[in-house]
Amino acid sequence: MSITSLDNSFVASTYGRFPIELSHGKGAKLYDTNGKEYIDMGTGIAVNAFGVCDDEWTNAVKAQLDKLAHTSNLYYTEPCAKLAELLCNKTGMKKVFFSNSGAEANECAIKAARRYSFQKYGEGRSTIVTLKQSFHGRTITTLAATGQDSFHTEFAPFTEGFVYAEANNTQSVIDLAKQNNACAVMMELVQGEGGVMKLDNDFATDVAAFCNKNDILLVIDEVQTGNGRTGSLYAFEQFGIIPDIVSTAKGLGGGLPIGATMFGEKTEGVLTPGSHGSTFGGNPVCCAGAYNIISRIDNKLLDEVKAKSEYIFKELGSAKGVKSVSGMGLMIGIETEKDAKEIVAACREQGVLVLTAKTKVRLLPPLNITMQDLEKAVNVIKECIK
Ligand SMILES: *Cc1c(COP(=O)(O)O)cnc(C)c1O
Repeated sequence: MSITSLDNSFVASTYGRFPIELSHGKGAKLYDTNGKEYIDMGTGIAVNAFGVCDDEWTNAVKAQLDKLAHTSNLYYTEPCAKLAELLCNKTGMKKVFFSNSGAEANECAIKAARRYSFQKYGEGRSTIVTLKQSFHGRTITTLAATGQDSFHTEFAPFTEGFVYAEANNTQSVIDLAKQNNACAVMMELVQGEGGVMKLDNDFATDVAAFCNKNDILLVIDEVQTGNGRTGSLYAFEQFGIIPDIVSTAKGLGGGLPIGATMFGEKTEGVLTPGSHGSTFGGNPVCCAGAYNIISRIDNKLLDEVKAKSEYIFKELGSAKGVKSVSGMGLMIGIETEKDAKEIVAACREQGVLVLTAKTKVRLLPPLNITMQDLEKAVNVIKECIK
């Protein structure tokens, strides 16, 4: 049986997979089982920050694998503590809870936001305002947090206590927060799955000011935008806001599953022994890999991310068949005249792997992709779009 039919027969059919079987890769290059080479402009959905099989990351992971792969959270381990310290030093946040995915990082953020409010104000102040077109995960609670009706079918009952404001409409956030006695506002600064839409700076700062004034927690979902993707270590830095809670995952692990929920001054003491936990959370191997990734996201790399971003915006912004280019850093959405799915297939034929987000073509290349590979990929994309 071919791997394709084996997978189709035995793996739950939750994904519309592309018709290729990948076998290996190096950096921004991936190879299928027929030996065909691809330039990877998707990085496993913003996960492989430094491409695949990056030597430094692989060595960090292997070294830890040979020492200690897992222990329960009843014991201290070095990679977990060091990664938390590094994240706090680089962000100004105060404490970190580790989990295994973006959805879990958001679950933790939601629990912490509600607990903060419960302990300070008692019952009835538990609603969280999220934005329309947002995406926060696939668990029942994070689906409820996701502001898209299409995610709210067939799985009822959902977790209560989420209301959806209009993105870039501060009054809409304020009204909903007041009407529902909200404890938090949770949002992505660039809506990824919702169509790679960057929020207006003014909206973000106005919402942050409103939250701060009313002791409503500001939760920023940086699962996709985080870890260098938008041109700063975390996107919130570029919006000039200070979140109370930041969730992240995807690129943090550089290829292994890890989620992190970071707490600021107001929220650092909210979680206490027994109030939350995760068997695999803070796994030493994942943390050792993540430490390597975060320690390498320096100003030099971020400047490169910005330069590559400008190059893509410039090249595609004026290309035939392109209606608009949106996003930030190396998180880019292209609104095209042709159907995005057709473009994805044509690019794949030509050896370039790209993604979609809603009706857009989406690009999430490795942060350290060479200009040579990037130019090659952009030229193919341009050809396929026109
Ligand atoms: C991908 C994503 C999630 C969910 O992450 P998983 O690791 O798939 O659970 C949550 N929020 C945002 C903004 C995402 O892009």
